[in-house]
Amino acid sequence: MTIPHFTLAASEADARTRDAADPLRDFRDEFLIPPATDPTLGEDHQLYFTGNSLGLQPRGVREALLTELDDWARLGVEAHFHGRHPWMPYHEEVRGHLAEITGALPSEVVAMNSLTTNLHLMMVSFYRPTTERHAIVIEAGSFPSDRYAVESQIRFHGFDPATALIEVEGDPDTGLIGFERIERALHEHGSRTALVLWPGVQYRTGEAFDLKHIARLAHAHGAAVGFDLAHAAGNLQLALHDADADFAAWCSYKYLNAGPGAIAGCFVHERHARAPLPRFAGWWGHDQSSRFQMGPTFAPTPGADGWQLSNPPIMALAPLRASLDVFHRAGMGRLREKSIELTAYLEALIRVRLQGVIDIVTPPERERRGCQLSLRVIGGRTRGRALFEHLNARGIIGDWREPDVIRVAPTPLYNRFVDAWKLVDAIVGWRDAAH
Ligand SMILES: *Cc1c(COP(=O)(O)O)cnc(C)c1O
Repeated sequence: MTIPHFTLAASEADARTRDAADPLRDFRDEFLIPPATDPTLGEDHQLYFTGNSLGLQPRGVREALLTELDDWARLGVEAHFHGRHPWMPYHEEVRGHLAEITGALPSEVVAMNSLTTNLHLMMVSFYRPTTERHAIVIEAGSFPSDRYAVESQIRFHGFDPATALIEVEGDPDTGLIGFERIERALHEHGSRTALVLWPGVQYRTGEAFDLKHIARLAHAHGAAVGFDLAHAAGNLQLALHDADADFAAWCSYKYLNAGPGAIAGCFVHERHARAPLPRFAGWWGHDQSSRFQMGPTFAPTPGADGWQLSNPPIMALAPLRASLDVFHRAGMGRLREKSIELTAYLEALIRVRLQGVIDIVTPPERERRGCQLSLRVIGGRTRGRALFEHLNARGIIGDWREPDVIRVAPTPLYNRFVDAWKLVDAIVGWRDAAH
């Protein structure tokens, strides 16, 4: 285990000292944090712990959007070429930073569509079932959209999810899966598995996985492997190219802060850049040099770009561009370093001050989690809901997962150590008020 060890001086003053020493502390000012509504919080703003659900608005987003509205007004169609950020190559403006965040080559990533759409498009190319090999392996308790997508793909190919959908069960108590359970599942079902679709971070438990390990395992069994990075992009330091994933997809409204329903991302490994894979095609995926000859025959442009369907929604790309710029300046490496420390700090406070009140579901090892901690409220659902609502009413925002879990995600871009302190202190206060 590699819990960062530090002497925990459990005091607000200590939390403030940690904030003062944080080299990334000024990034918080680049975000619009909703105002606090309860004066007892002693803060102007909410303590916002739901960056894993909807990241906060970077201040740069408004200007990025206004720029495009103005250029549309000023230039009309000409803004495709003569705007301040020309629309024709606009998605190129996010490519470099997306590659940085995901540890990919620039040609391996593209911003397009939404997450579930991208999962489907990727499965069209990478889920190629045969009579002998048509199963898909996912984690039990996966995000519903992923399960629906996978089930519908299986049915679409004429197979039965009852046998072709393999869900790897986690520990019955915690839901944690660990590598061995995946290994065992593939040992048992590997020869009939066509695709392993695995999360970077499991949304409910916060468990993170070693993608390289999983990709190697899946490939050794002859299966393709794709990753859903909804809870990993902008949270973990990823190395998708080296991990050797066949594909990956993620949304950009969680840790990536690109706004509700933001345009999503997709990764296709370089080795597939020119592979003649079956795919659903659209004109924006056509070879860029001849796209505007408007010929009848589809020839995909090499790399991830070849999976694009439509010309991209500029108003959806603008917030992503502004948000990725913040990540670029902060640096994913530095963000992850702070994140490890901040989450370990929160964990330590919970262990010291909330014994008997909260169990932490998320693994303690830094390699096995991102910033999120899933907190199980001891005493069951009613007690859990009461605590959740108590916090919420005070402007301490986490989110609720049935039956008894509150997820909190201190994010390194805009959460402070004092946020973690105040969260724990509020729960201590709630417990002491004889609950
Ligand atoms: C958030 C999330 C989704 C949401 O899918 P959309 O297509 O963006 O609505 C899907 N899968 C996982 C694992 C998620 O965490």
